[in-house]
Amino acid sequence: MSAKFERLEKIGEGTYGTVYKARNRDTQAIVALKRVRLDEDDEGVPSSALREICLLKELRHVNIVRLHDVLHSDKKLTLVFEFCEQDLKKYFDSLNGEAMDQNTVKSFFKQLLRGLAFCHEHNVLHRDLKPQNLLINKAGELKLADFGLARAFGIPVRCYSSEVVTLWYRPPDVLFGAKIYNTSIDVWSAGCIFAEMANSGRPLFPGNDVDDQLRRIFKLLGSPTDENWPGVAKFPEFKPFGPFNPCNDISSAVPKLNSKGVDLLVQLLVCNPSLRLSSSDALSHSYFD
Ligand code: ADP
Ligand code: MG
Repeated sequence: MSAKFERLEKIGEGTYGTVYKARNRDTQAIVALKRVRLDEDDEGVPSSALREICLLKELRHVNIVRLHDVLHSDKKLTLVFEFCEQDLKKYFDSLNGEAMDQNTVKSFFKQLLRGLAFCHEHNVLHRDLKPQNLLINKAGELKLADFGLARAFGIPVRCYSSEVVTLWYRPPDVLFGAKIYNTSIDVWSAGCIFAEMANSGRPLFPGNDVDDQLRRIFKLLGSPTDENWPGVAKFPEFKPFGPFNPCNDISSAVPKLNSKGVDLLVQLLVCNPSLRLSSSDALSHSYFD
């Protein structure tokens, strides 16, 4: 792979490329190497992408996967990350139907929000938060991965493995065609992941396509109207979903979550993006006391 790293095993195939576990030949340190694939007919790595990626090297926080280095050579881009043992999706799978401890849910979610708040303070959006992009190390630290790549390379439509990118964590405004420029998109995704953790890995809104996704959201949270979401009909891809659903009791969707947790979740999963809590306000919610 390179003179500096000994490639060990493939650990993931993601949206932008392949991830390998590797060892630094000089220091013996274990890292994760991400080979970013660029289009065949491309002129190599766009300079805008390189600029974005290099900014991420400065984004240092315990709850963000550390980007140690960016290696750029003959049209190839390799990102050198700190290594984490597993991602949250694999963690869910390893539960094997067992319930996730609600204190672990709280700890993971707090770490998720801390990482997110830090990024948002630095004007970096994630835009593709999902369990596969949350890494967990041996010490029980949760770290956001894949940050900033959406801005560097564009919002993914398909994964490299030609799997369709999941819609499960996308907010209704984005599903209605809103442009993804706002921190509120990540807050929605975080809320979905919070509920999924509280339910030991069962996704909250596992839609099959955009319409199914929206239908599932409105079935639980109630249909959007001009009263609860002024201007909703003006979104480029808005369509009304009849018949009208009232807002359901969210606690029934997360039976193991305590009442403070439900109260927090309700404030994250708000269809109108301007009324959604911010990640830093979420951190000061009494659920975390
Ligand atoms: P993509 O942008 O292509 O989705 P990711 O960074 O999400 O790539 O990586 C794909 C998968 O590889 C992740 O879901 C995770 O399982 C694994 N992975 C990524 N980065 C690391 C890392 N630093 N340590 C351990 N595993 C990782
Ligand atoms: Mg990913």
